[in-house]
Amino acid sequence: MNLLELPKAELHRHLELSLRDETIKEIAPSFGFDLSKEGAFEHHFKILSPMKDLGSALHKFLDTQKLLASTEILERIAFEACEDAFKKEGIRVLELRYAPTFVALDHPNLSFDSIHEAFMKGIKAAEKEFPMAVGMIGILQRILPVEDNLRVMNFMVDQKEDFVGVDLADNEVGFDPTPFAPCFDLAKKHDLKITIHAGEAQEKGSEKNILESVNKLHASRIGHGIQCHRDEEVLNFVVEKQIPLEVCPTSNILTGAVSSIEEHPIRKLIDKGCFVTLSSDDPGIFNQDTLEDYQLLLDKNILTFEELKDCSNRAARASFISKEKVQKAWPTPL
Ligand SMILES: [Zn+2]
Repeated sequence: MNLLELPKAELHRHLELSLRDETIKEIAPSFGFDLSKEGAFEHHFKILSPMKDLGSALHKFLDTQKLLASTEILERIAFEACEDAFKKEGIRVLELRYAPTFVALDHPNLSFDSIHEAFMKGIKAAEKEFPMAVGMIGILQRILPVEDNLRVMNFMVDQKEDFVGVDLADNEVGFDPTPFAPCFDLAKKHDLKITIHAGEAQEKGSEKNILESVNKLHASRIGHGIQCHRDEEVLNFVVEKQIPLEVCPTSNILTGAVSSIEEHPIRKLIDKGCFVTLSSDDPGIFNQDTLEDYQLLLDKNILTFEELKDCSNRAARASFISKEKVQKAWPTPL
């Protein structure tokens, strides 16, 4: 079996930042982007070398955001994200996520409802065409006030038939997760599953956000979590509780969370007994998909083929999509 044929499950992929290159090139000129000059496409839409920190990387996402301007585009993006994941990466179980507030920004023609409906339409069409299970996670942005996020969480609760879970994203540096506890109390009350971006940034202390996210925001999975190894208490906690970590190696390098693939703690995390899964985070921006990340880890002798297979099986087991639906798309018993 080669790596493409290996059935994969991916838990952490931002739908708004998973646009196909050809689609960007086709639609961007109508939003005022001149892509005729050499390097213009990469300048606006790609992060190809490490940014100085996570904050600068997130800033670069804003040009792609400008393209998310109509329901037709959103539906198309959602369908193509699933199609590419299935055909080009061998992904059978896929959790996509998006932030309604990020998509809606400066798009007065779009409401949370119309955004959501368009994305779900694209996903459902893809599920009909490809034998895969796709789930949607709703994101709150930690850079926005708690009151705004409560409004977003209420929207997600209203749409809980579609959302398999909820998340808190954006730069964690300077944004303590605890003030958002009321939002996640509400999610818990309505049985929405919770994953939180935490322990991603290289800034000292980010690993403590993992504890806060689990203990105060009811997270049962952690987005990234790679910095847990820096603190023994945090490491023991995630190992003992077997909290699934959504590890995104290329993303971690390009956002400056780790300095190189050789320096990435994934090997250490597996050796310590962490529940490691692998995801791509923002494949459209980072120009690297999950298959390529698997290949990189294999080529660099960081993980073996069997360990990559274990990561994928673990991800399928940790999915927020119902077990019954995952099993239909997964070749071996969960
Ligand atoms: Zn993320």
